[in-house]
Amino acid sequence: MPATVEVPVSFELYPARTDAGIPALHETVRRLAAIDPAFISVTYGAGGSTRDRSLALLRHILDTTDVEPMAHLTCVGTSYSEATALIREFLDAGITRFLALRGDPPEGAAEGDDFLGDIRSAAELAQLIDRVQAERVPYGEAPVPGLPQAARVVEPHDVQIAVAAFPNGHPRSRHSREHIDALLAKEAAGATLAITQLFFYADDYLSFVDRSRTAGVTIPILPGIMPIISPRRLQRVLQLSGESLPGELAVALDVEPTAEGQRAVGIAHASALVRAVVEGGAPGVHLYAFNNHATVLDVLAAADLLPSRA
Ligand code: FAD
Repeated sequence: MPATVEVPVSFELYPARTDAGIPALHETVRRLAAIDPAFISVTYGAGGSTRDRSLALLRHILDTTDVEPMAHLTCVGTSYSEATALIREFLDAGITRFLALRGDPPEGAAEGDDFLGDIRSAAELAQLIDRVQAERVPYGEAPVPGLPQAARVVEPHDVQIAVAAFPNGHPRSRHSREHIDALLAKEAAGATLAITQLFFYADDYLSFVDRSRTAGVTIPILPGIMPIISPRRLQRVLQLSGESLPGELAVALDVEPTAEGQRAVGIAHASALVRAVVEGGAPGVHLYAFNNHATVLDVLAAADLLPSRA
């Protein structure tokens, strides 16, 4: 029997960029599925650039494992009718978990340019997913006279809508409360789970959860943790996320002369973060897997969440 995780764990994968990468990705899905994660999410290229490959990977997870796949969907540059059709297509494929995102501006466009399209925020997309799935449900059955309401046959789609949250604010935020207001709006729009952007210190996440609760956010907030196993990856994620440079981690990676040593530094850092957020009350951990099962499984093992390697 493979070892399974002791706290809810989930992973993020991205679709293979070429057909040649598909067998290795499927092996990664198999190895991650073996520890029975709560879900595996699949990224979506803003503007629909990975639509077919994302859907193919989601279908693969659905068809070959018992793990729930979660589809990231973005709304930048989409019309209302395109977004509606996209949501229907994913629901028809059997996908019931979504991560509703705005998406980053297309290459060359700056924040503030008119790149958004009909749906201007993740909250609006969450609301649209909620509406589209509700319309598909056969609520139409008339109640049978004399029978209590609960006896009516209803087959709801059991859709879960997750959204992104930003412990250190979003680069687009204009004041320190804006990202928490955005999260409140997402919850009001129907979101039932938030997944955070990566962060480097446990307190960034824990204090963000406290501030969100004080502001009235009630949905679970899953910490998103990314093992940083090379200086190059660190530079890349800082560029993409707008996070500040984590000094100690940057130095520890820089002074390691070998790739193996740098990987060990990244795993130690990520596993310490996992332990700290779980001890601080996190409802689970979401690991950015970079399509590599070995690294995230090593992080879980080092955090003592995996009794032995799957
Ligand atoms: P929103 O919540 O709509 O907005 C982002 C920020 O803008 C808010 O936090 C707030 O500060 C501000 N804001 C929102 N509404 C308003 C308003 N009305 N007025 C003023 N300011 C406002 N990108 C992809 O392209 N594909 C992916 O698969 C993907 N996956 C991701 C997964 C996770 C867990 C995370 C954290 C991010 C992911 N991203 C992905 C990146 C994401 O699309 C970007 O961070 C994007 O810039 C913001 O998306 P959002 O869903 O938070 O947008």
